[in-house]
This record gives sequence, C-alpha cells and structure tokens, in this order.
Amino acid sequence: MIDNIVLGGGIAGVAAAYQAKQRGKHAVVYEARERPGGLLDNFTVQSERGEFRFDTAVHLSFAEEREVREVFDRSPYNTHEPEAVNWDRDLWLRHPVQNNMHPLPTQEKVELIAGLAEAPQGEIRNYRDWLVQQYGEPIAARWPMVYTEKYWTLPAEQLGTDWIGQRVRRADLREVLTGAFTEDTPNAFYAREMRYPKEGGYRAFMEPMVKEVEIVPGHRAVEVDAPSRTVRFANGQTVQYRNMVSSLPLPVLIGLMPNAPDAVRADAETLFATVVDLISIGFNRPQVSPTLWFYIYDREILAARGYAPSWKAESNAPPGCSSLQFEIYSSVKQPQTHSVEALKANTVEGLRRMGLAVEQDLLFVHHMRLPYGNVVFDLGMEARRDRVRAWVESQGIQVAGRFGEWAYLWSNQSMMSGLRAGEAAFG
Ligand SMILES: Cc1cc2nc3c(=O)[nH]c(=O)nc-3n(C[C@H](O)[C@H](O)[C@H](O)COP(=O)(O)OP(=O)(O)OC[C@H]3O[C@@H](n4cnc5c(N)ncnc54)[C@H](O)[C@@H]3O)c2cc1C
Repeated sequence: MIDNIVLGGGIAGVAAAYQAKQRGKHAVVYEARERPGGLLDNFTVQSERGEFRFDTAVHLSFAEEREVREVFDRSPYNTHEPEAVNWDRDLWLRHPVQNNMHPLPTQEKVELIAGLAEAPQGEIRNYRDWLVQQYGEPIAARWPMVYTEKYWTLPAEQLGTDWIGQRVRRADLREVLTGAFTEDTPNAFYAREMRYPKEGGYRAFMEPMVKEVEIVPGHRAVEVDAPSRTVRFANGQTVQYRNMVSSLPLPVLIGLMPNAPDAVRADAETLFATVVDLISIGFNRPQVSPTLWFYIYDREILAARGYAPSWKAESNAPPGCSSLQFEIYSSVKQPQTHSVEALKANTVEGLRRMGLAVEQDLLFVHHMRLPYGNVVFDLGMEARRDRVRAWVESQGIQVAGRFGEWAYLWSNQSMMSGLRAGEAAFG
C-alpha cells in the first residue's frame, strides 16, 4: 500500500507530488515513458554539423504565478519579445494580422475595415458568431476562420467560445485603422515577454521539481480499479493506494476504469484532442526564421505555424546553424491523410514558398507525432467533460493538468493545476 500516488509524470503530475513534498508528505509518480516531462520533454537530432535540440512543440513561458516563477526562475533563462509574423498570400504581415494590414492593396483594406465598422451584434452561439461580431465578416473569413480550421481541425461554427480568454486579440477599430496607415504599430501580444531556459530545452524549467520527487518510469497504467483502490500497470505490477491524482487524458482514464457507468463512458468517448505532426528541420546556416515564431494562413502549406528553436536558445543548434519546427494538426474529425514523407515534402516546399530556405540549406527533416495536442472545445464539450470529471472525482480521484482537467492549459496553468490537485488529494 502506498498512501499517495500520481499517474503521469508531465509537469502537472510532478507538481502534484511536489505539493505533497512541500506539505511534508510523500507521493510516488508513475510515468509510462522512460523519463518524466510529458509534453515539456525534448529530443535531439545528430547532424554532420553537431547536435540539435527540439522541444515537442513551441513552448515559451509567460508565467506570472508566484508559485511557478519560484520554480521556473531557478534555471537561467533568455527573455524574448513576443514578436510574430503571419504568412498570407505571398506576404509577411506582422501579428496580430488585423492590426497590421499596411502592406495590403488599398481596396482590400477598405473592404476589410468596412466589414469591421459594419460588424453585426447579437447572440453568440459559437466561435464563428464571436469572430464575425469581433472583426466583421471579411476579416473573420480571411484570417481567423482559415486558421481555426488548420489549428482546431473544425470550422468555427462547430467550436464553442469558453477557451478564448486572453488568447485571441479583440478587434479595436482605432488599432486596425492605425495598422492600415502605418507599419509602426505597437506589439499587441497577450504577454509582455516570453522566457526560455538557456540550456537543456524547455523541460529545464520543471527540472527543480523533478529532482525533489519520486518518479517511477516505465509504468503505464492499464487498469484503475477505484473501489479496491488498485492500479495495474502494463509491466504486470500493481499498486494499492489511499489517495490519487491522475494527469492521464480524461477519456483514457475512463477507459481504464471498469466501474465507469455507460453514460460516463458515452460522454468520455465524445472528448477529442488534436494530433500534432511535428516537422523539425536543421539548417546549415544561421537564423532562417523571420521571427521567433510565425503563423501560416496559406492552405497549400499544411503547417499552421512554425517557430525557431535556435532563436529560443543558442544551445538548441550547433554554432553557425539554425532550426525550425512546424506543427501540422489533425483529429478524429479531420484525420491526417498524408504520409509522413508527404508531410515532410510539403513543409520543405513551404519553406521555399515563404522564401526562408532551399533544399541545399537543409541538414535533416525529422518527423514526430504527438497523439495529444490541444483538447478541442467543440460545441457543448464543457458540459460533457464536467460530467465525466465529476464522476471521476466521486471515485476519490483528483484530476490535474491539460488532459486530466481536459482544458486549454499552458504549462504554468498545468503546474498550478497539479499543485491544486496535490493539495486536494494529499492534504
Ligand atoms: C502544440 C503545443 C504548444 C504548446 N505551447 C506552449 C507554450 O508555448 N507555453 C506553455 O506554457 N505551454 C504550452 N503548451 C502547453 C503545455 O505543453 C501543457 O500545458 C503541459 O505540458 C501539460 O502538462 P501535463 O502534465 O498536464 O500533461 P502531459 O505533459 O501530457 O503529461 C502527461 C503524462 O502522462 C503520461 N501518461 C499517459 N498515459 C499514461 C498511463 N496510462 N500511465 C502512466 N503515465 C501515462 C504521459 O507519458 C505524460 O508524461 C503547448 C502545448 C502544445 C500541444
């Protein structure tokens, strides 16, 4: 019998055990993979010019919470200005795109801005309504609706609005007009600065917690029997517990619980997340990226966005070299139909079209698939998710993290979620 256990060793699970430690308790983290980190982990690629490091997707920190900064700031970090650009119809436009339309032809600008001035107001039933009322139909249709399909894999009318928060810039007619007349617009990103460890990739930020907790790798939970408080692992081991935090994806957890009622199973089966194909590229020359990261509206290029690991930290690429990583999204609603080779070829062709690099600049093109990217807020998801969560909690299990809570949480929020769950479960 182990008093306190945590399933999943990403930042949320590790934070839950760290919370126990802060309170003079002990919790054991069981992680399926060979090391903790989850989505904050990274991988390296060897090339003729040396070693490249890539995080699993973009990962920059804009944490404000005292508890998070107290941990993250123990690793020396770089500070970056959140400056991004958008690739659209053969042009680079600064971000956010509606505030930076200066390079567009006059007639296009007139139509787009007139649409904003005439934006309808009324009931908001879905994300499409929200976009049209925020930006007017022409701007909404030209940029955010296109991006929504690339990033969320659903048309905007099938998405809810609860996830938006500070993530999408509201349209302000004065800002839009200013950006139509001049290129000299202020940075309107939702965070003032973005932080990234100087060494060791993004996971370095969670390393101080990893060092202080007990993590048992190579333990994939395959059954969670809540009535007998027993977890069985794929390697044949079992553990009995008193208190548990789970950071496993909520629908996965339900699949592991034999006593889940049919109605809960039915709700859980409707929850889905995007799958991310990561295309990571090493270049034999210095910085090829226009900015730290960029968005791609062109539908011919499958990637929704790209970013430069070598810009985040010099230690991510050998001297004189640089790197880019691209994210291509799919889901059960819009399955990936391209082969890995086709995804790579499309991205390399995209580099050429965007004027960033040609074949001779490339050292390697690497592919990796993340089965869980962003949880999708399709219409009515929150109610179904809340029912599932309530049932799991009725079984004495606290959920934590992006996939445990099934919410759009950044790393700092996932850590806060783990701290909260650790407090609730372990006292
Ligand atoms: C594309 C993308 C970009 C992002 N960019 C940023 C960013 O710029 N800034 C930022 O702050 N955040 C960013 N995030 C969010 C951040 O990655 C998450 O908030 C955070 O990593 C989630 O941590 P977690 O512990 O909740 O989940 P995870 O990291 O997924 O951890 C879950 C763990 O559970 C383990 N596990 C799964 N099944 C089992 C099982 N059966 N048994 C045992 N273990 C199991 C997994 O191996 C994993 O280690 C991004 C996320 C994505 C997808």
